[in-house]
Amino acid sequence: MEKKNLDWANLGFGYMVADYRYVSNYKDGKWDDGEITTDANITLNECAGVFQYCQACFEGLKAYTTEDGRIVCFRPDLNAARMADSARRLEMPVFPEDRFVKAVEEVVKANAAWVPPFGSGATLYIRPYMIATNPVIGVKPADEYQFRIFVTPVGPYFKGGAKPLTIKVSDFDRAAPNGTGHIKAGLNYAMSLHPIVQAHKEGFDENMYLDPGTRTKVEETGGANFIFVTKDNKFVTPKSDSILPSITRRSLMEVAEKYLGLTVEHREVFFEELKDFAECGLCGTAAVISPVGKIYDHGKEICFPSGMEEMGPTTRKLYETLTGIQMGEIEGPEGWVHVIME
Ligand SMILES: *Cc1c(COP(=O)(O)O)cnc(C)c1O
Repeated sequence: MEKKNLDWANLGFGYMVADYRYVSNYKDGKWDDGEITTDANITLNECAGVFQYCQACFEGLKAYTTEDGRIVCFRPDLNAARMADSARRLEMPVFPEDRFVKAVEEVVKANAAWVPPFGSGATLYIRPYMIATNPVIGVKPADEYQFRIFVTPVGPYFKGGAKPLTIKVSDFDRAAPNGTGHIKAGLNYAMSLHPIVQAHKEGFDENMYLDPGTRTKVEETGGANFIFVTKDNKFVTPKSDSILPSITRRSLMEVAEKYLGLTVEHREVFFEELKDFAECGLCGTAAVISPVGKIYDHGKEICFPSGMEEMGPTTRKLYETLTGIQMGEIEGPEGWVHVIME
């Protein structure tokens, strides 16, 4: 198999149309067999449920090449389970979890020429999603759905090293108590666009959302969970029913405990505590960990001792261990590295 002739190391994080995608349709109460197709476009009725009442959910994961030349992805079973949770909350049919993992394998194999080579820093971003496809005008769940997976090669997240971010405490809320913050629904992103555009205009990289109920506790950003390291080197990460359960964060909790021997606290984190922490980071599939140097709260600043030049030492160890496991350089727990092609 010949790789596409791309400048892998200089790819951005953007959509590039690859050769193949996976499509399965749900009709008359069941999913069809699904297939790999070449058509990157979808033709839908103007009244399709996804356009009217936003019945849509998605996932995000990556495939990459390990040093010994295998194409792998990371814990796709957790993406399958999370997408099933998202579908249930949105009254959409669940795409069976085993079929989800098989479809990921199939679409990556078909697009093997698009999987960036080892060492390039680039990866193949995989986007599974589901939409309501039949016309819906009265407010109710649709009857027909499409599950689709496309892939697109993306460049290294940090070109020339990870510079710590500056984030602001947002006056907007991301997710209501008992709302949809815990599922990966497009609707959670639609409403986050205005706050992030505002934050960028003001010179901040990201928004920190607080719990809307009391505005005293840390939730997450628009698309990444928070991790903190205390001065006595404990790993702390916020717990709340309205935080999206990041697979990266759940993996880092295990890495912190089992590989680095840290005490892990998954609990409510009060904003008032932040000034006493040593390190802060954002975690998600795209960047794994982005270090945070500074938090801006209405004229006051919290500056972490790790500073604005580099990742804190414990954050760096977490990052290196998890990416080492993902790349096959460090032996990971059973099932974490999922081989797609030997
Ligand atoms: C996808 C997402 C994350 C990160 O989850 P990963 O599984 O680690 O990629 C965090 N927060 C939100 C709101 C998300 O949508």
